[in-house]
Amino acid sequence: MVQEKGTISINTENIFPIIKKFLYSDHEIFLRELVSNAVDATQKIKRLASLGHYNQKLGELKIKVAVDKTAKTITVSDNGIGMTADEIKKYINQVAFSGATEFLEKFKEANDANEIIGGFGLGFYSAFMVAGNVEIQTLSYQDGAAPARWTCDGSTEFEISEGSRTERGTDVILTINADSEEFLDEHRISEILNKYAKFLPV
Ligand code: ADP
Repeated sequence: MVQEKGTISINTENIFPIIKKFLYSDHEIFLRELVSNAVDATQKIKRLASLGHYNQKLGELKIKVAVDKTAKTITVSDNGIGMTADEIKKYINQVAFSGATEFLEKFKEANDANEIIGGFGLGFYSAFMVAGNVEIQTLSYQDGAAPARWTCDGSTEFEISEGSRTERGTDVILTINADSEEFLDEHRISEILNKYAKFLPV
């Protein structure tokens, strides 16, 4: 059941074509961005537990990256803090982005596309460099939280509905574009993870 449909709030225009066009050579960093969000989420729950704000079992904190060649999906899963539907609206739908003009100006000055993606808080949206559709399935650590699902096809339209996750944490499911199928190869994924995710705490 769809609970809400809406438009991702971006000041000027759709940033996705810009992300795709300008960051073309660095497509592989989507994985670093998603894994780093997943790691952040596990570190946040750890911290909440150590402050006494979370009293349930932490379990072994981990990130899983799964490739399904048949379904053409890559799923990044964590057992971190998760998100409520309201948090999705706050953190995912409201992109901290002040417009295409500023983006393009910054891009000219930067030496590295990575600076841009990080600097604009676009980490999550780098998924659209390789995916036509992105789905989030998430369950917040908060008592009585309801699982939430968010989907977006790379336009500014998103959809939030009831989710299916039964345990605390988040799955980000990417349906990989035909021109990015190289990422459906486990070796390629391992290579990227070794490059960017070797020294992460989880
Ligand atoms: P940044 O990481 O720079 O804040 P992102 O676009 O990558 O920007 O992510 C936006 C926000 O969405 C994060 O700050 C976080 O609050 C939330 N988020 C993203 N991924 C996850 C996740 N796996 N678990 C929990 N929250 C997440």
